[in-house]
Amino acid sequence: MPAISFSGTTSRGPFWLQIFRHEKTQTCRAPRADGRDIRKGDKVILYWKQRMPIKKKPVHLIGEAIVTSAEMHHYMSFAYDDAFARRDGFEDHLELQSWFGSPKIHGHELYNVIQFDVYSLAALEMICKKCGWNKITSVPEERVCPKCQGELLILTAFFGTQSFKIPTLRMGK
Ligand SMILES: [Zn+2]
Repeated sequence: MPAISFSGTTSRGPFWLQIFRHEKTQTCRAPRADGRDIRKGDKVILYWKQRMPIKKKPVHLIGEAIVTSAEMHHYMSFAYDDAFARRDGFEDHLELQSWFGSPKIHGHELYNVIQFDVYSLAALEMICKKCGWNKITSVPEERVCPKCQGELLILTAFFGTQSFKIPTLRMGK
């Protein structure tokens, strides 16, 4: 199964959390030198910073997804598109441009625009720092503790039969 590794954080949060919330459903990747680009219909496994040691990050495996669309587009064709930018995890096209560079300089660059539909997510163990309320979920909707409004931390990510101990991650924002 081809892998896609994510590492970005935007004003809307880290990409892994945006994928958990089904907010980020798209990624743009440079064409591969070997021609083995991800294609429509591929099942893909999504990682957060795939090569970073597991102990140093909140999540390793994010989940599995099916690629619903994969097309080559020039940067210029999406550099001013707010809806495109939102699908990709940015607030708007200006934030997208701050990542991809000036369209005047980089507009000709080609990207494989991959849209994906996540069908399996890792589970997260969340705990309240103040009262100890906890929950295991793949839907990290709460931003603060529902019992005491305390700060929530993510402790562990599970995926299938594996579990990953993780450093605490604040759920605020
Ligand atoms: Zn609490």
